[in-house]
Amino acid sequence: MQLDQTLQARMNHRRLAHAYLLTGRDRRELADTLAAALVCTGDAPPCMACTACRKATQNIHPDVVRLDPDGEGLKAEAVRDLRADAYIRPNEAQRKVYILCHSELLNPTGQNILLKLIEEGPAYAAFLFLTPNPELLLPTIRSRCETLRAPGEEEQAATEDGKILADYILNRASPAETLPFLVALEKRDRGEIAALLAETAARLTEAAKENPSVLAVLDRLDPIRAACEFNISAGHLAGWIASVL
Ligand SMILES: [Zn+2]
Repeated sequence: MQLDQTLQARMNHRRLAHAYLLTGRDRRELADTLAAALVCTGDAPPCMACTACRKATQNIHPDVVRLDPDGEGLKAEAVRDLRADAYIRPNEAQRKVYILCHSELLNPTGQNILLKLIEEGPAYAAFLFLTPNPELLLPTIRSRCETLRAPGEEEQAATEDGKILADYILNRASPAETLPFLVALEKRDRGEIAALLAETAARLTEAAKENPSVLAVLDRLDPIRAACEFNISAGHLAGWIASVL
């Protein structure tokens, strides 16, 4: 997994924050890396060679706790147990790491317990909130966490496509020019199209600073980005592109 240099440096120098929100397709992999970095006993965490790193990645480290709801969401009861556990000092490591898979399924009571723990809990405790959709977490939790995206390869490719699409729009490409691109989009799923459009929007926003006429295209992009929440296909996108070119 390709990591951001700043994050890599922070891990190496044991300067990680104590609450992260991890999103993107490869978020579990990123959580494993962060957990290893937090408990690592080597020189440049995560060394991936020390016993702590190995235990963390094999999910058998006593100071790395995972809460993974099985379909029905995380119960406040489980979060209360977590809170009690957080006040017990780590067994082997300097830190204790809580990985909350699908944290968007936590009810508000559970989220508020965790919020208090982030704010007032022991300094050795670190919390990794994993979610495909950060919007579903309480804003108070989001504002306390540093957000890290772990896009999968497909999403990275989709982001590249987002740049291409923005270029087509800004250069007023002809429909014939865009056709092969549109056909290739058929393979992209909803999440990938959302990532693609996010990149297109970012590029167009940048271009609008120089050329305010691009704002009209951005206005028409909003509803189609909102539609990504529900259901969107390459066909919808093709219709939209035809309307703005
Ligand atoms: Zn290590």
